Formats: sequence, structure tokens, C-alpha cells
Amino acid sequence: MKRVYLDYSATTPLEPKVLEAMTPYFTEMFGNANSMHSFGQEGAYAVDESRRKIAELLNVKPTEIYFTSGGTEADNWALKGGASAYKGKGKHIITSKIEHAAILSSCAQLEQEGYRVTYLPVDKGGIVHPEYLEQAIDDETSIVSIMLANNEIGSIQPIKELAAIAHRRGAIFHTDAVQAMGSIPVDIADLGVDMMSFSGHKFYGPKGIGVLYIKGGIKPDKLIAGGHQERTRRGGTTNVPAVVGISKALELALNHLDENYRHVKAVRDHFVSEVERRIPHVIYNGDREKRLPQNANFAFEFIEGESLLLRLDLSGIACSSGSACSSGSLEPSHVLLATGLPVERAHGSIRFSFGKNTTMEDVDYVLDCLCKTVNDLRNLSPLYAEFTHNGGKL
Ligand code: PLP
Repeated sequence: MKRVYLDYSATTPLEPKVLEAMTPYFTEMFGNANSMHSFGQEGAYAVDESRRKIAELLNVKPTEIYFTSGGTEADNWALKGGASAYKGKGKHIITSKIEHAAILSSCAQLEQEGYRVTYLPVDKGGIVHPEYLEQAIDDETSIVSIMLANNEIGSIQPIKELAAIAHRRGAIFHTDAVQAMGSIPVDIADLGVDMMSFSGHKFYGPKGIGVLYIKGGIKPDKLIAGGHQERTRRGGTTNVPAVVGISKALELALNHLDENYRHVKAVRDHFVSEVERRIPHVIYNGDREKRLPQNANFAFEFIEGESLLLRLDLSGIACSSGSACSSGSLEPSHVLLATGLPVERAHGSIRFSFGKNTTMEDVDYVLDCLCKTVNDLRNLSPLYAEFTHNGGKL
């Protein structure tokens, strides 16, 4: 059976050149990068070189790059470490309603510890407007964390404007760039952020490795206490193969950013226009313009997203209802609800995310299966029967 993977926002396959770069560090160069001997020094050298390469690619200093176990840890560190280090200014945190669980759960924990958290709303397209931040920020706000691009609907936020507002009021600014990095241009200096999280497995690198960029002078408290790794700010034996892997993956992603962007956007745009042409009663969730090239998210009226997802899986097609982290929960997506989508439409929503290996033939196969499956499910739906019986009125 043909299999088509349209869940690149959940994770991407490892690029063969990345595996090749990593392999020696699993086998002959296995030393602990903190050991003094030559085995350790080979690892330490690889880590230094990887840090230097990432810094150069992002136009920041190597001392501003910290390796973590992934995007989740980087987000936890930025938020909890930042809130605790800067609580002298005040215990008010601002974030948005559409953040990833790594941020929202950290905020919930901080609320338990007596912090006040404001969750900014978004517009219909999933955009946080700078005015919303202007209205919410006060003298006690110490940290603002708004994602660069959303994982469910791909909406891209006006980070430069938001960071400038935070700075004017003396707060530090963190952005979760996990979905954006390697997919759209990200200029840290131009955005003006103090901290930024990203994760290797979203741009054809390994899982279990991420980066927190921390601007010189910004000092979030430690999240992981331990040895003296990461210049004493993050304990734990360095995962040398993964560090080598994320730097190689970032290099490839950024060196091929334009061509990958064009390809991914072309297959996504073809998919979106065909879905809208061939399937009635669909809603394209998210902003049409300010959007990641890999993301399409549709609400199919009168059907449950999960039923559609499972039927497509039987045809070899992988996509997602909500984010990978919340699948398994039958709660409607907090992101779609924040955009004002009613619960039943949020339940009928599916995310398709495209990648550099997706072909037009793959998309055409998915379109045929999708049209048929939506039709079959609607024919089983009492709501749809009522709708057609009433001459197209609910
Ligand atoms: N932030 C966003 C926006 C994400 O999409 C994800 C993963 O889906 C994460 C954070 C978590 O990253 P990781 O899987 O590396 O822990």
C-alpha cells in the first residue's frame, strides 16, 4: 500500500547526511565531552565546533547557545528560569492562549507558585496583535513568551513588535521558534528577542536535542542542576552525537531554506486549493498569509477529526488532529477554540503538514482519498442528513 506522511510538524525523518555526521560519535568517538583525556577531548571538540557552527548560522555568539534535551526543556528553562531570575521586577508573566503545552504547562506550574499569568487572545487567524500586549503589560511584568509560529495552524506572530513592547516596559522576551526554525528565515538580532527555543527533530535532525539561545547578559535560573556542563548552566552528560546532529541539520536546513520553502509551499498551496475546490463545507483554519509554508489545517463540517484521521491512516496517510502532544486527548484544540472556532468545528479539524520529501503525486493521492473519505463519513452523519434534508440549512 502507498504510504504518505503529512505530519512533518510532529516530527521529520532524519536526513541521511545528518546520520552520517553523527555516527562516529556513537562508536569510535564515544568519549564523555567532560573527560580530560583524548577520548573526551574528541567529544568536547565536536561540541565546541557544533556550537560555533550554530552561532555562525544564526549570527549570534557561541556563548549564547545552550544545548538542551529538546524544545520542551528549552521552553521550560526559559520560562521558569526567567520568571524566577527576574521576579524582583514582579511576578507577572505574559504569554498567549495558543502556546505549546511546554509553555502553557510551565505557566500553570508558575501560577501554583504565586505568579500571575496573562494569556493573550488571538484574532480569527491565530495572530497575537501588539495592542493586546500593550494593554496587558504592566510594571510587574518580568517575562513575555510568545511563540514565533504556531504548531497547529502555522500562524506567524509579529515577534519584533512584541519584543519591542516588552523591552520598553523593562520585561525580557522569549520566543518558542520550534516550528519556525529551518522553515522560514529567523533573524534573532532583528527580532530582538532575549531567548529563543528550537528543536532538532523539526528540521530533519535527531530527536531529544534542542537549543535555548540566551542573549549575553540575560541570566535565567538553572532548570537542570548537575555537573558543570553548558558553562555550569545546564547539568547532564552532553549528548555529543545529538549535538553534532542538530548543528548539521541546521546547516543543511538553512543552506537550502529557499528551495525547501518554495517546494513545501507549492505542494501545500496545491493541496489547499484542491481541497477548497473539491470538498464542500470546509473551513481553512488560520491566517492565509501570515502562515508557515508547511501547514494546512481544515475543519471538515459534519464529521469528527479522529474518524477521518483513522480512516486516512487505513489508506496509508498520516496526518494529525491537534498537535502530536495532545493527540490521545479528546479535548478540542485550545488553539482552534482561541481563534473562535466553535467546539464542533474544532472537533472536525485536521492538520496536514508537508515536508521536503512530499511530492505532488503524494498530494494527489491524499486528495483522492480525502474526498472519498469525507464523503463516506458525511453519508454516515445524522447531522449531515438533517442538513441535506433541510435543503442545506441547519
Ligand atoms: N514548541 C512547539 C511549538 C512545538 O511544536 C513542539 C513540538 O511539537 C515543542 C515546543 C516541543 O519540542 P520537543 O518535541 O523538542 O520537546
